[in-house]
Amino acid sequence: MSQMKMTDGPVDWECGQCKKKLSPGKVNLDYMGSRFTVELMTCPDCGFVYIPEDLAMGKMAEVELILEDK
Ligand SMILES: [Zn+2]
Repeated sequence: MSQMKMTDGPVDWECGQCKKKLSPGKVNLDYMGSRFTVELMTCPDCGFVYIPEDLAMGKMAEVELILEDK
């Protein structure tokens, strides 16, 4: 299903444009009218944010549940 290849060991995330190593950073997301902060891999050079496919597709449903619990 996923187009991503999982590799063993630590993964060196890098920006497709800059070839810079991505670093974890806080990112504001807007979802269902709510704003919340998550930590995602970002490019320090161009600000590219890598959003994992599972977050973009399925995990958002879990995030919504967490918000409703509060
Ligand atoms: Zn970049």
